[in-house]
Amino acid sequence: MSSQICGRCNKIINPGDLFYRLTIKVFADFDGVINIKGKKMDLNKEFEKIKSCPEDLLEEEVYKEFDFILCPRCKEIYCANPLYLPLGDVKLDNNV
Ligand SMILES: [Zn+2]
Repeated sequence: MSSQICGRCNKIINPGDLFYRLTIKVFADFDGVINIKGKKMDLNKEFEKIKSCPEDLLEEEVYKEFDFILCPRCKEIYCANPLYLPLGDVKLDNNV
């Protein structure tokens, strides 16, 4: 097994070192409700609009997956705030 690199801080992870795999899946969900805005929806026009979009862009609209290798420190930082929400005045401890 060769060395790997942390996807966040670029630290070299040597064979045998602890590391984490972060897989993020983002996919469209559906709650069963269809909201139709305006008076009338032209389904043919909507279908043509969808057909004219490149397939990879359409696919990304529905499903996207990310895969990262993280060192232990970056795993802790990520898990402390996975949605990268504003922390206000809270400072991250450098010992994490
Ligand atoms: Zn790292």
